Amino acid sequence: MLVPQARVTQVLTERARELGVEIRHGHELTGLSQDGEAVTATVTGPRGTYRLPARHLVGADGGRSLTRKLSGIAFPGVTRDDTVSRTADAHLPAEWMDEATGALHVPGYGVVPPFAHHRNERGVFVFATPPGRAPLVSTMEWKRAGDDGPMTLEEMRASASRVLGVDVPLTPPDGDGPHLLRRLTGGNTRLAERYRDRRVLLVGDAAHVHSAIGGPGLNLGLQDAINLGWKLAAEIRGDAPPGLLDTYESERRPAAHRVVVHTRAQSALIAPGGDVTALRELFAELLADRDTVRRIADLMAGSDVRYDMGTASPHPLTGRYAPDLVLRTGSGTVRLAALTVTARPLLLDLTEDGLPAGAVPEGVEVVTGRAPDAPATALLVRPDSYVAWASSSPHPDTAELDALRAAAGRWFGAVRTVPA
Ligand SMILES: Cc1cc2nc3c(=O)[nH]c(=O)nc-3n(C[C@H](O)[C@H](O)[C@H](O)COP(=O)(O)OP(=O)(O)OC[C@H]3O[C@@H](n4cnc5c(N)ncnc54)[C@H](O)[C@@H]3O)c2cc1C
Repeated sequence: MLVPQARVTQVLTERARELGVEIRHGHELTGLSQDGEAVTATVTGPRGTYRLPARHLVGADGGRSLTRKLSGIAFPGVTRDDTVSRTADAHLPAEWMDEATGALHVPGYGVVPPFAHHRNERGVFVFATPPGRAPLVSTMEWKRAGDDGPMTLEEMRASASRVLGVDVPLTPPDGDGPHLLRRLTGGNTRLAERYRDRRVLLVGDAAHVHSAIGGPGLNLGLQDAINLGWKLAAEIRGDAPPGLLDTYESERRPAAHRVVVHTRAQSALIAPGGDVTALRELFAELLADRDTVRRIADLMAGSDVRYDMGTASPHPLTGRYAPDLVLRTGSGTVRLAALTVTARPLLLDLTEDGLPAGAVPEGVEVVTGRAPDAPATALLVRPDSYVAWASSSPHPDTAELDALRAAAGRWFGAVRTVPA
């Protein structure tokens, strides 16, 4: 989904405020220290510097994270300086636009599809018309020193013309702006060595940076936050089972590594040169295979992540993101996505006769209903919507119910069952 980042920020801000979170704009972390009892942040705000003690501190402060640096967490990886990418809000000649397909017909060059990294042997050209804003033009070139000084629309035009090999006249977008006009040289691919230093944790770009190709960064960071949120809440409430907070790193760091792998692979596949063109031809052949498309799509969406739920012979859904089931319940039809808003452990009981009395672990909310096409008859869903346990049996047996209790104990510390 193409969602402007400002809209994402707005939605998250509204939700945080609804939950009573205080957001302090213009307050900058300048130092931190921690001991066995607390972590103390030094913060500089509009009225000066103050100290803020807390039980935990989560650094969501981006790729240059001071939290990460002050915590002594290494950020190994690679920096490349052989690419220059330029992006601008700009209009292209109206007669080049194909209203039906959204593609661009460039005289003397050919068709450029919209919203795609269009590569040729000279570089990459991107053209997009995001709804409600000016068209976006972007290029990527190799082994050219970036021009000095502020980026200009003329520089954007020259770069687009070099890549497509014909003149690409650009005109400024309408209105006062601010309009995007950006030049980036090189880029970093780095992954934090650790996601935690005692009471300090890292999420989002503070923990990982990589090429923006394919746009996986925001999803990756949001999934970090969702994974960490419920675990940290349990830790603060005092009912987290031992080791729960450590699973944040063991689950999320490999997910970031996957993104590092596919963004580096994509960067290699859009580089110039005949060898890369040959590799792309071969890759395109492989992508004619439906299973391969599925695999690559899941990789890029991050939906191929499977967490280790500690089960010897897990159900195929265990460890995976729960499918967004539509349940028919006594009080109407509801989607699983709507049920997970409370961020509580959920047991979906879709069995014909209902799970036996006493099978439900304490602290777990039970939703009873029907979902005829569901790939399971019962699922234990974590607050981050990952499946901790599942069964496909119409009547889960004692061994399965023991596994359900074990899963609840492992993730929620809830081992007692609700009396019949
Ligand atoms: C050119 C480009 C294009 C991209 N395109 C996409 C895309 O299409 N799709 C996608 O999903 N991702 C994209 N990304 C990546 C995406 O922008 C990031 O993954 C995402 O913004 C990371 O979010 P974050 O909250 O972790 O960090 P950031 O968005 O970097 O936010 C960090 C915040 O911390 C604040 N901060 C920093 N230091 C301090 C301090 N000491 N004290 C207090 N506050 C501090 C900063 O001001 C900032 O507000 C792109 C990135 C780039 C550079």
